[in-house]
Amino acid sequence: MKKIIVQKFGGTSVADTEKIKNAAKIAIKEKENGNDVVVVVSAMGHTTDFLVKMAKELSSHPSDREMDMLLSTGEGVSIALLTMAIQAQGYDAVSFNAMQIGIMTEKIHSKARIIDIHTEKLRKNLNEGKIIVVAGFQGITEDGEITTLGRGGSDTSAVALASALNAERCDIYTDVEGVYTTDPRIVPKASKLKSVSYDEMLELAHAGANVLHPRSVETAKHYNVPLRVRSSFNTDNEGTLILGVEKMEIYKPVTGVASDLSQARIVVCDVPDKPGVAAKLFSKLAHENISVDMIIQSYARKVSNTNDIAFTVNLDDVPGTVSALESLKSEIGFNGEIQTNNDIAKVSIVGAGMIDRPGVASMMFEALAEQGINIKMISTSEIKISCLVDKSDADKAVKALHNVFELACDKTAEVKGDLPDV
Ligand code: ASP
Ligand code: MG
Repeated sequence: MKKIIVQKFGGTSVADTEKIKNAAKIAIKEKENGNDVVVVVSAMGHTTDFLVKMAKELSSHPSDREMDMLLSTGEGVSIALLTMAIQAQGYDAVSFNAMQIGIMTEKIHSKARIIDIHTEKLRKNLNEGKIIVVAGFQGITEDGEITTLGRGGSDTSAVALASALNAERCDIYTDVEGVYTTDPRIVPKASKLKSVSYDEMLELAHAGANVLHPRSVETAKHYNVPLRVRSSFNTDNEGTLILGVEKMEIYKPVTGVASDLSQARIVVCDVPDKPGVAAKLFSKLAHENISVDMIIQSYARKVSNTNDIAFTVNLDDVPGTVSALESLKSEIGFNGEIQTNNDIAKVSIVGAGMIDRPGVASMMFEALAEQGINIKMISTSEIKISCLVDKSDADKAVKALHNVFELACDKTAEVKGDLPDV
């Protein structure tokens, strides 16, 4: 049986008809290599942003259902155009949207998860020798409602398709050459990583590195789908491979530095210090579908018998969070302030090499201290340390950390043994 390669082209890679022709060439080349090819595409250029802008001009709170109806149209345009471009080169191709295939999701508008993908139609068309072009980002619920997977969700569509089809590899074509040690716009000397583990990539993606949709990396890890991020415009460059840590040789404690400017800090002051309070607060937020990132509970004040609980949420979720918390005041019995701060940034260092290596955290804190940067919150995982700082300090922090962990030359990780062909 032929190998299946899934390719995904992001918005910048299909931004105009010239770029669509280029994407068509890349897909055809893979077909010429003797593989079956499934291509997943995003909406052209800034189409999705433009659609969001129009919706906001008409309504301050457009309903999630209608937003999904609207935003899912962007991908519909690019699949048809890319398919025409492939056909124009003399190759057989067909486009499908998520509804035609059966990319089944939960019934949560604007951030649905994929539950299942029906593969019959895909397999039938591949067997007929066609290149298949699929709309990313969108899905359909059991009762026929159109959903979307959240901004940037086409990456996740591609990985989920790769896993459902047992593909050899999923190639994410984008406008950058791969995954870098940090954002090259902040640190021009940032270097491209040859490879990075799923866990590191996941932490980097959650920490604000915008290369991949975090859920796409989770899915790739879960189903062990080798992922490659590479440039649509320089296909000589092999890009960055994302794979299991067992396949990598690690040299440095830190692989990458990321900053996330899209979070806000919420502080709930003077909540009673007794069992069940945190449970009630966070289950309410979970119920409202609000994800919480860093959480700190202060040491209880003896006299008042109260705590402060601080946490971060996405900036978009601030109004929802505040009203959810307000609604809990009488139930939990607190009357303290709910403070919000939108001018913060989360700066993180990530590396599988920090496991069992003492002193990494102190190096990070010292580097920030040397720059006079105040740390507002700290959180850690096995392979990540994040500090919340003022937004205006974010770039300075990233530069200092990139420097202190010596990331300017690519010796963070090398690949061991045999890997999927690149
Ligand atoms: N078009 C969608 C967005 O702009 C999905 C994607 O590009 O991955 O967020
Ligand atoms: Mg994207």
